Amino acid sequence: MGNKYHGTCASDGLFIGPVRRLAGQSYSRQSSGDPATERDALTEAIQQAAGDLTRLMETVDGESQDILAFQLAMLEDDALTVAAFESIAAGTPADAAWSAALNGEIAGYETAQDEYFRARAADLRDMRDRVLRRLTKAEEAAQGDGAVLVGDDIAPTVFLETDWSHGGAIALYRGSTTSHVAMLARARGIPMVVGLGGCELAETQIAAVDGGAGLVVADPDQAEADQFSRALEAQTSTRAAEDRFRRLPALQKNGMRIDVLINVAGVEELDHINPADCDGIGLMRSEFLFRDGAPLPGEEAQYLAYRRFVEWAAGKPVTIRTLDIGGDKPVRGLTPEGEANPFLGLRGVRLTLAREDVFRTQLRALARACVHGSLKVMLPMVTIPGELSRSAELLEDCIRELERENIPCKRPPLGIMVEVPAVAVVPELFRAAEFFSIGSNDLTQYVTASSRDDPRVAALNDPGHPAVLRLIAEVARFGAAEQIPVSLCGDMASEPRHLPSLLAAGLTSLSVAPARLARVKAAISEL
Ligand code: PEP
Ligand code: MG
Repeated sequence: MGNKYHGTCASDGLFIGPVRRLAGQSYSRQSSGDPATERDALTEAIQQAAGDLTRLMETVDGESQDILAFQLAMLEDDALTVAAFESIAAGTPADAAWSAALNGEIAGYETAQDEYFRARAADLRDMRDRVLRRLTKAEEAAQGDGAVLVGDDIAPTVFLETDWSHGGAIALYRGSTTSHVAMLARARGIPMVVGLGGCELAETQIAAVDGGAGLVVADPDQAEADQFSRALEAQTSTRAAEDRFRRLPALQKNGMRIDVLINVAGVEELDHINPADCDGIGLMRSEFLFRDGAPLPGEEAQYLAYRRFVEWAAGKPVTIRTLDIGGDKPVRGLTPEGEANPFLGLRGVRLTLAREDVFRTQLRALARACVHGSLKVMLPMVTIPGELSRSAELLEDCIRELERENIPCKRPPLGIMVEVPAVAVVPELFRAAEFFSIGSNDLTQYVTASSRDDPRVAALNDPGHPAVLRLIAEVARFGAAEQIPVSLCGDMASEPRHLPSLLAAGLTSLSVAPARLARVKAAISEL
């Protein structure tokens, strides 16, 4: 029997192949002994690394480009490089000064309380090594394709430079489910397991990776390999069977039509989705346009991004959620530092109402994009009616301002997420909302008092808890009675096992992960 290692799923799917280690490279270089020469060498290496990143950015799109832009912005930030140059002036060789300066930064990220910041450490290591390679003129380690890449962590640029056309998987001793690489792996459908701890995998081994189960089997024996091949075949044929439903409207057995929309974050995701396969975009998480560490996007950049979503949908509805920054999605300079409990803190509409400058820029961009199609605006984390009415006032105000400036704009319908129990219990206080979208991820976390990102309480964080289901059913009933459209955009809509309860609750509109469209439609056809 092969050794079994258990970790956490960062991206599901199955793959079996040879192990390739993501070996940490060592860099050596002879110092010139002259601080001025060392300073010039580092300056040149940073410029070359920036050039490498810029060239790499031209070969990728959207989200991948944003990740590289984050690295580029860090590289061009004097605050990051000043310590290295000071140390060179004091006589340290360029490579040692750069490593020490970056390692200090990386350690800060690695020990951050926040998972999101810890996940950014991989970007910094990637950047550190890119400059070191230039400084020491080291060759870049080639990554084999069609392999299981194994190591402590994998740099985003290594992922982007790897040829995945023959498949592959990632198995990390450390890593994080919320890292940029995990996002990339999910978007590309590459199985990925993180947190494998003390296991050791060697290049001579074969590994079978079951991303969904968070399982890696090293050197599976014949029986295990056969079982894995059967699972792989079953996965392939299930996906082919589900695929037949992709292009069709979602119909229950009784002929009842369910609208199935998609949840998206980045514009580049649209390249891989056919608008004919869905009934629109049910949730666009606009906070993903705001990269931590990068400058905040202005009105024009936001307008162009929102417009792309609306034009892509070609008349189908597109619900763009205003910034849901805070909680597990902090952005330096916007979210407060050191909150004891960020999920209960200044998050979503609470934050945007506290930062009207940022909110108004977004509302103006949204009202402008509304001219190009069927755009709706949705507020996250609403708790009291005053948040909705104040946001509506600001939206009206932005529209009047745009009209005075003769800038084309239109008033989008304004709705709310139902994700705080205080709303789900008394939806009648929110009749002013033009639509409701149930955020079952947060609703579950707040109703069950169990963090959505803590694996130790994952069993409690169950959207199938009767308390959560009752609230969902009540909101759906209220919406139907009052003719307020109700949809659900939390992850449970993407899980076939939850669909019977959601449809029984009377929901007729769901918004799901794009990779689950065909599966959800196939499951609906069975109900
Ligand atoms: C939710 O809470 O269910 C939701 C869809 O929003 P997010 O996951 O972005 O918090
Ligand atoms: Mg939410």
